[in-house]
Amino acid sequence: MEKDGYIIVHGCRKCGKCDNICPSGALYRVDGEARIDYEKCTQCGECVEICPNKAIVYLE
Ligand code: SF4
Ligand code: SF4
Repeated sequence: MEKDGYIIVHGCRKCGKCDNICPSGALYRVDGEARIDYEKCTQCGECVEICPNKAIVYLE
């Protein structure tokens, strides 16, 4: 799949709001902190929208 940018997690507060939001199963957590499997992420933006701490951002 062609990708224009990428999703990055920075400053995750381990709140868990993004649990189960990813339709591609690309978002997971390690010791509470969100991580992204770039092989699976389709950059749909769902996780960017849901994070109340703006810890997930889309970079062009
Ligand atoms: S919603 Fe944001 S702060 Fe909360 S666990 Fe997910 S990435 Fe971290
Ligand atoms: S951008 Fe979409 S596919 Fe990628 S990790 Fe977030 S919710 Fe999953």
